[in-house]
Amino acid sequence: MNKVRVATIWLSGCSGCHMSFLDQDEFLMELAKLVQFVYSPLIDVKEFPENVDITIVEGAVGNEEQLELIEVARKRTKQLIALGDCAVHGNVTSLRNALREGDQAVLKRAYLELADTTPQIPSEVTPLLKKAHPLHEIVEVDHFIPGCPPPASLITYVLTELLAGRKPEMEGKAKFG
Ligand code: SF4
Repeated sequence: MNKVRVATIWLSGCSGCHMSFLDQDEFLMELAKLVQFVYSPLIDVKEFPENVDITIVEGAVGNEEQLELIEVARKRTKQLIALGDCAVHGNVTSLRNALREGDQAVLKRAYLELADTTPQIPSEVTPLLKKAHPLHEIVEVDHFIPGCPPPASLITYVLTELLAGRKPEMEGKAKFG
């Protein structure tokens, strides 16, 4: 039996959503029988591959590199899942959107005002976008799993339904925060 090709992506998020994914505990053993992880921060693959069945995305789209990655991932993926409030509506990552020139404001705060030694904004990091974007503002999203982080049981439910060829029914199951 061909395994389902699954990718996970970590954009501008705190990795808490990936931790929740790992919290699925013994379901991960079941998952390993059914899916092949073809791209993820949990494995050492550098290029987003072709022909991915399911891509699970944590975090908002916050910089130019992430913008490029999510657009490539969307083109190469059958079903794309926004995992967690940052991916679903921006959440913590998008707090900077309320500031005037928020991209520059967070860089100044992080690298200049809070620096203990040699304050400087690094020139080699990928430029931030003017605003952080939830996924649906950039690409089409097939499934949303809210929560900060989403409970592992909810991730398991969605994956179980998708792997069985069913559409997850989220009404009454998910909440923000
Ligand atoms: S939704 Fe919460 S847990 Fe997930 S990346 Fe954002 S802040 Fe972290």
